[in-house]
Amino acid sequence: MPAVSRERFLRWFAELAEIGRTDTGWNRVAWTPLEVEAQEWFRREAEGIGLEVRKDGSGNMWAVTPGAGDGPYVCAGSHVDTQPDGGAYDGALGVVCALEAVAAILESDEPRSRPLAVISFVDEEGARFRNSCFGSLAVTGRLDIDAVLATMGDAPAIHGVSRESLLESRDELRKIGCFLEVHVEQGKALIDRGQAVGIADVLAPRSRFRAVFEGESNHAGTTPMAGRRDALVAAARFVLAVDEAARSRPNAVGTVGRVEISPGSTNSIPGRVACTLDTRALLLETVDDLVADLRGRFPDATLTQESRNTGARFDDGLRAALYASARAAGVTAGDLPSYAGHDAGILAPEVPAAMIFVRNPTGASHTPAESASDDDCVAAAQVLAGALAQLAR
Ligand SMILES: [Zn+2]
Repeated sequence: MPAVSRERFLRWFAELAEIGRTDTGWNRVAWTPLEVEAQEWFRREAEGIGLEVRKDGSGNMWAVTPGAGDGPYVCAGSHVDTQPDGGAYDGALGVVCALEAVAAILESDEPRSRPLAVISFVDEEGARFRNSCFGSLAVTGRLDIDAVLATMGDAPAIHGVSRESLLESRDELRKIGCFLEVHVEQGKALIDRGQAVGIADVLAPRSRFRAVFEGESNHAGTTPMAGRRDALVAAARFVLAVDEAARSRPNAVGTVGRVEISPGSTNSIPGRVACTLDTRALLLETVDDLVADLRGRFPDATLTQESRNTGARFDDGLRAALYASARAAGVTAGDLPSYAGHDAGILAPEVPAAMIFVRNPTGASHTPAESASDDDCVAAAQVLAGALAQLAR
């Protein structure tokens, strides 16, 4: 069994955390020089342990064991970009765990017949251009290249990415034999259960909509209350209905996160309101049922679907390897669903994929408050190392 180095893991994690660190959080937003700096840090350290490193046509970094050719590789990784004022763990933890796990395997005398790779996916957060999981979607061929590029201006050039290189990067998927991702938990379930790590079982399905409410704008002073058609009042009822509809269904969540009011003036009755709806649940039927309920209750609203993710089941074989490794390392583990998007979730419909979540005492995510103990992080790296070693045997 490979043994991870706590000292090297913590040094790597601290080094990466210096990049883009500010008084208000971590700022390695994708397609900026700080994401490039983090990728170059990754290149240096991966080469330092003898891996061959390259950037693919969509901006993802690959570090593979020498002589691996085109694989397919046993892969692990995550992303180095962050939300604006994000946390130190989201993404970075997965990349450093993967690097440490592979380093530990290379130092061990584990028999190995399959090549290994660490992948650092570009722009997982979608913070700048709202294309989350850009790099993993690109390799699966599911990125709408023309639509995405139309919003990005000349930003892709910072990673040498172009329309042609994106088309070529669709060929990268066949190099991924399987993919494992360590990620800080984005909630407190593991704290409540007293488990160090969670092994993801499903990625929750998700639907996103744009809802539009039409009313009639008029003077806020001279228009009596009787006969008003205030679009924001209708939208406010909708917000309450979303909250109620999600609370009354098992394992469902529903959120209105953005509202645009027209004309948006103190002195005018809102004539038109557009808002977002994001809803997720463990079962796709629950998501669809919740949306059908809202449509029935608001027949005058226009509800347009903007995206739909039918969810994914993580691979049972990989999950078994992770559980076996956790048992061997004496690390407490249990099943945990993921309600957030991840590169592993994007890959799951295409190749065997699995995830390890690390206990997060604050339960915070996308803020500097997200956290994990050094012990739990090192334990996750160890669980990953054991599983990768078994898969590469
Ligand atoms: Zn992440």
